[in-house]
Amino acid sequence: MAKIFCVANQKGGVGKTTTTVNLAAGLARIGQRVLMVDLDPQGNATMGSGVDKRQLELTVYDVLLESASVQEAAVFSEKCGYHVLGANRELAGAEVELVALEQRERRLKAALAPADADYDFVLIDCPPSLSMLTLNGLCSAHGVIVPMQCEYFALEGLTDLVNTIRQVHANLNTDLQIIGLLRVMFDPRITLQQQVSDQLKGHFGDKVFDAVIPRNVRLAEAPSYGLPGVVFDPAAKGSLAFEEFAQEMVVRVRSLHGAAPSIAKAA
Ligand code: ADP
Ligand code: MG
Repeated sequence: MAKIFCVANQKGGVGKTTTTVNLAAGLARIGQRVLMVDLDPQGNATMGSGVDKRQLELTVYDVLLESASVQEAAVFSEKCGYHVLGANRELAGAEVELVALEQRERRLKAALAPADADYDFVLIDCPPSLSMLTLNGLCSAHGVIVPMQCEYFALEGLTDLVNTIRQVHANLNTDLQIIGLLRVMFDPRITLQQQVSDQLKGHFGDKVFDAVIPRNVRLAEAPSYGLPGVVFDPAAKGSLAFEEFAQEMVVRVRSLHGAAPSIAKAA
């Protein structure tokens, strides 16, 4: 049975897409069967997985509107080792079209169900908003991975997301929990980042992943080659950190089985 995770944070530019594609590649490299779902109309996770969003005949848009199945629309990225359910600008229109449909928040969940046995992990890259698309992601998922930069106001910025996750948990998806907070673009030389990191651990305890993703230029360069850093330069510091994160996720997922939802802890 596939474990489904959303990578979400309502802020843009915080490392969601970088986290999604590198975790997908990291998991694939340790033998996990991975489907990466791009829920952002910008299609950055699609392009960053070696799939040209302009060439796609079927995307997650068709899947949400039930004109294609996941099996039909997902393509395998040879370079990256995982399947990609891609997105392009067409997806921006889905927001409006979904409003008129029944079970509009559960379209992705319903679409993923038949593909459940095909994957160990489904990773969903969410857009930087708490929109109907993100809601579809949250309704499908067992958990949320929250990438965050250790900056001033980092904790405050989390409040909206935590509240949304709580509401989804209460009303739409009782499986949903915060799997963990991932510190990204981390620079240990900056005292403030170290302080915020300590604060995060004080507040969220073991919800903070042990793996820390450093600020690393190779991770930033990789998308222009249409690759996750883990594939583009496996020896780079940032890539090694994502490999560690992938291992940690595998362990964390094992401990998930039968665990009670611990949203309260993340409040
Ligand atoms: P989001 O999906 O949240 O908008 P991205 O993953 O696209 O964020 O990251 C925003 C920018 O920061 C991108 O240009 C990306 O290449 C860069 N970036 C992300 N993580 C790192 C990192 N660890 N080190 C250096 N640059 C990074
Ligand atoms: Mg993104």
